[in-house]
Amino acid sequence: MEDKILIVEDNPQNMRLMEMLLKARGFSFLLKAIDGEEALDVATRELPDLIVMDIQLPKLSGLEVTKKLRQMPFFSRIPIIALTAYAMKGDKEKILEAGCDAYLPKPFSARELPAMINEMLQSNRRSKSGEKK
Ligand code: MN
Repeated sequence: MEDKILIVEDNPQNMRLMEMLLKARGFSFLLKAIDGEEALDVATRELPDLIVMDIQLPKLSGLEVTKKLRQMPFFSRIPIIALTAYAMKGDKEKILEAGCDAYLPKPFSARELPAMINEMLQSNRRSKSGEKK
């Protein structure tokens, strides 16, 4: 089954860039949200396999969205990769504390993001199949 990836990003240029990048790497089932409220809405409706979450977003920040999602059983184990333009001291800790699994500073490299997505989808599949035994 194809992996469903939700991209949350309010900057249209970054959104286009990520879409192109992920499609080029074979991820074709992409969902999009451009602010925190839409992210919650699309996530709970579509139940993606992984979320790429910009942190600076209108309405609700990526951290707030992540915290809300983590309270829902379905999202307790869904990988969330945070992207943030500024990384100040303590930001990484805040991001991980909110429930994100990983963190990439912007601008991210064209290799790093798809590699991280692949790795997380695979390890999530492994832990899911482990649970069934
Ligand atoms: Mn942003």
